[in-house]
Amino acid sequence: MTVTLDTDIKRLSGVGSASGAKLNKLGITTVGSLLYHFPRAYEFRGNVKTVASAEDGETAAFILTVTAPPTYAKTRSGLMLFKVPAGDGTGSCIVTFFNQAYIKNTLLTGSSYRFYGKVSRRGRHVELHSPVYEPYSESLLPLYPVYPATEGFGSSRINKLISLIIDRPDTVLPENLPDEVIEAEQLMSRTEAIRTIHHPCSLEAIAAAKRRLAFEELFGFALNARRQRKTEDALPRAEFHGCDCSEFRAAIGFEPTNAQKRVMNEIYADLTGKDNRSPMRRMVSGDVGSGKTVCAQFAAYVASENGYQTALMAPTEILARQHYEDCKKLFSALGKTVKLLVSDIPAKDKKDAYESISAGDCDLVIGTHALITEKVVFKNLGLVVCDEQHRFGVGQREALLKKGDGAHMLVMSATPIPRTLALVLFGDLDVSVIDEMPPGRREVRTAYRDEESRDKIYDFIKAQVKAGRQAYIVCPGIEETEDDGLIPLEALSADFSPESYNSQVKRRKAAVNYAETLSTEVFPELRVGYLHGKMKGAEKSAVMKAFERGELDILVSTTVIEVGINVPNASVMLVEDADVFGLSQLHQLRGRVGRGKYASYCILMANSPGQNAVSRLKIMEQENNGYKIAEFDLKQRGPGDFIRDNGEKIRQHGALKLRMAGALDDAKLLYSAFEWAEKYSKESV
Ligand code: ADP
Ligand code: MG
Repeated sequence: MTVTLDTDIKRLSGVGSASGAKLNKLGITTVGSLLYHFPRAYEFRGNVKTVASAEDGETAAFILTVTAPPTYAKTRSGLMLFKVPAGDGTGSCIVTFFNQAYIKNTLLTGSSYRFYGKVSRRGRHVELHSPVYEPYSESLLPLYPVYPATEGFGSSRINKLISLIIDRPDTVLPENLPDEVIEAEQLMSRTEAIRTIHHPCSLEAIAAAKRRLAFEELFGFALNARRQRKTEDALPRAEFHGCDCSEFRAAIGFEPTNAQKRVMNEIYADLTGKDNRSPMRRMVSGDVGSGKTVCAQFAAYVASENGYQTALMAPTEILARQHYEDCKKLFSALGKTVKLLVSDIPAKDKKDAYESISAGDCDLVIGTHALITEKVVFKNLGLVVCDEQHRFGVGQREALLKKGDGAHMLVMSATPIPRTLALVLFGDLDVSVIDEMPPGRREVRTAYRDEESRDKIYDFIKAQVKAGRQAYIVCPGIEETEDDGLIPLEALSADFSPESYNSQVKRRKAAVNYAETLSTEVFPELRVGYLHGKMKGAEKSAVMKAFERGELDILVSTTVIEVGINVPNASVMLVEDADVFGLSQLHQLRGRVGRGKYASYCILMANSPGQNAVSRLKIMEQENNGYKIAEFDLKQRGPGDFIRDNGEKIRQHGALKLRMAGALDDAKLLYSAFEWAEKYSKESV
């Protein structure tokens, strides 16, 4: 049978219909999607330890010679426990297996194997529990792939299936990048990149494969975005005429910044321009507090003056309610009707909202996903606004847009990303940037500190609470799972160091207990709440609301607080292990304080960070402009963080998952991928 990328996975030998169905669940339907099912992480089997240096609890590789045949015994639970004596010259070790009688035939006395598994150590007694192993040879690969898997079809079966194809020397994938591009950008060939990503022979090779595959994704993504834009040109469009906006300007109660004026003009031109062929598709990007809301309100005003309704969708109920309060104040002064629609309101109010939306009595409806349900029928929807756009899938936005005929769309993003990058990533949107803050904004005083100042920092937090303020303490990974010894694909680069990576993992693990220590030992007299990503929605919002009502003094949290919480009374934020965050992320976090009338502080804790990290944290001390910070971040860490943070938006492009590009640490490659795509999109039309 000749196998091509389009060959159905079920036709491969060894894949029955049951296995096929399981693979389909993982998105693997064809040989092509199998080969593009990249490892999520690697076991670092090349990082060989000696028995003498093995630490209790760690997962590592060892090269051991079997010194005697296995002994076995029955455990109390009825399992057969096999013990294989082995050693490596620095010490001896017992390798244990359960119920695997065949090991006496596969682990031969006098032969050497590479074992990889979890160590337990009691003094000099070292055991290695149920490790994987392979006969030792010089040519063993240092990195062993671990795949996203599913129940009944595990990672090693996926590996076997992939190996069947890529281990055949005659396997050649048709190249999908133009020759001149491969040459100019010095990229690996497609075949070699796919082989390498699954079975890497070195860190350098894997870095080159990631680079090639990221380029391929971005190039495809950009071509696709260009084409999508072309088809959208033909969409119907709700016709808006120009209108007098002086009443609106008078009602907002402040003078817009120049940046806001510019953005409002751009929106106005999109909505009312005579020559526009397609509806508005615009993103407004601006720092937290830069005043995006008024731009959206302006658009809603223009829509209502044209007899159209507006739907504003926010990612959380808290945000929706905030917008509702704001908009009600402004729009009732202008004689317009505003309604709130979230799942948590009385049935009577919901019914009332549905009725007034369908009758056209309501000019602006503000809500959560509740807006998408079938019960919501608009009389005349002309504008959709999505706040914090990265929290919505494009499917949700499209669903809302479909409730109107040729409705315009405005999305607002609080992730300041450089405009050039935004144009690249959001190829199907126009981009407006608010890169200026309203006057009188107090800057958040930011300081980078290390462990020596810890007591002083705790005292400072206590003093702030005593003065009536509240505090955030952010930790990188309260929900981090156990140290499984795996190195995620994202972390691997040519200069990857397993030692520094492992020490990072250890520090994150420590954060789990830290949250508890804070409430029981550090701040026993204060009210401390926790918030983390694994909590249920209701639990989470109960904690957030308690903090908002001032019933908690300190909120210990992972980065889930980034979006959707506004507590003007919070004046201090302590970020633990600040060096593991991207700068843009730190900047986002910091935006949670300094929202009220109080002097505010952000303390970035980092212990023995590298040179790079120190200079990054210094930038945070000096710079409050999110766009400048983002530029710096992009230069230093590459676009991977931005791409991952905007994952939802990007996933819309369906088949083209930006899987590798999310691990990209080279901004130049991104831009060149887009320049080439630009060139080829013209040639192919
Ligand atoms: P974000 O961009 O984070 O959504 P908002 O639109 O919520 O920011 O604005 C933050 C605060 O700043 C609001 O209270 C808003 O009324 C106020 N604001 C916005 N623009 C101006 C301005 N030009 N002058 C003074 N205050 C402003
Ligand atoms: Mg906002």
